[in-house]
Amino acid sequence: MGLGTVGAVGLAMGGSAYAAMWPGSQIFGRTLTAPPRSDELALTFDDGPNPAWTPRLLDLLASHGVHATFFIVGRFAQAEPALVQRIAEEGHLIGNHSWSHPNLARTPANRVVEELEQTSHKLEQLVGKSVQYFRPPYGARRPFVLCTARDLGMMPVTWNAMTNDWVEPSADRIAEQLKAKIETNSRRGWASNIVLHDGGHRGLGANRGPSVNAAAQLLTSYEATRRFVTLDAWAQPTK
Ligand SMILES: [Zn+2]
Repeated sequence: MGLGTVGAVGLAMGGSAYAAMWPGSQIFGRTLTAPPRSDELALTFDDGPNPAWTPRLLDLLASHGVHATFFIVGRFAQAEPALVQRIAEEGHLIGNHSWSHPNLARTPANRVVEELEQTSHKLEQLVGKSVQYFRPPYGARRPFVLCTARDLGMMPVTWNAMTNDWVEPSADRIAEQLKAKIETNSRRGWASNIVLHDGGHRGLGANRGPSVNAAAQLLTSYEATRRFVTLDAWAQPTK
């Protein structure tokens, strides 16, 4: 199903709610998904930092010499400042994933601004660099959310390869499902913007062993044939 079809279905359902939850939807303005470069992969990790698994993930990425993008929850950054600093010091890209992980499609405007602003401020204070990418929790968005992100100098980001890694106990199954999506994207000429979770939005300490082990499998499978990039290789915010 092409994006045109998806858009038409969303509109035919009269559902801005449907469009708001659909990662490929562009009807609320431009968001970064992936460019037409079939040999590139971006590993992105949401809902951290998580002291239980992020350090092991960082060790894994370092052992492969690969950089990833981390969409960080502001309140976890506040709780784990040294871990956020380690992520940045090891050359990974840091993005904003809101302060408390609400569904921003249903959050009052003043709180949307607070959620984004407070998180960027905390991250910038910790890593000394401006935060230029934003991924809305659950992919939920509406025009106001995207405008707010852009006003704060951030490009909104979605994805095109995800599975339910946060509930799937088998790393093999997670890796297998992501590989199928990567191959499909690739056959169609696209790079893959892959989502995995190193944290859990409900609290610190979530078990993300299956997700980290699935990342290990993807690294091993693709390091010889694809290029792993961070999102700034694909697009820079215009502001
Ligand atoms: Zn999330």
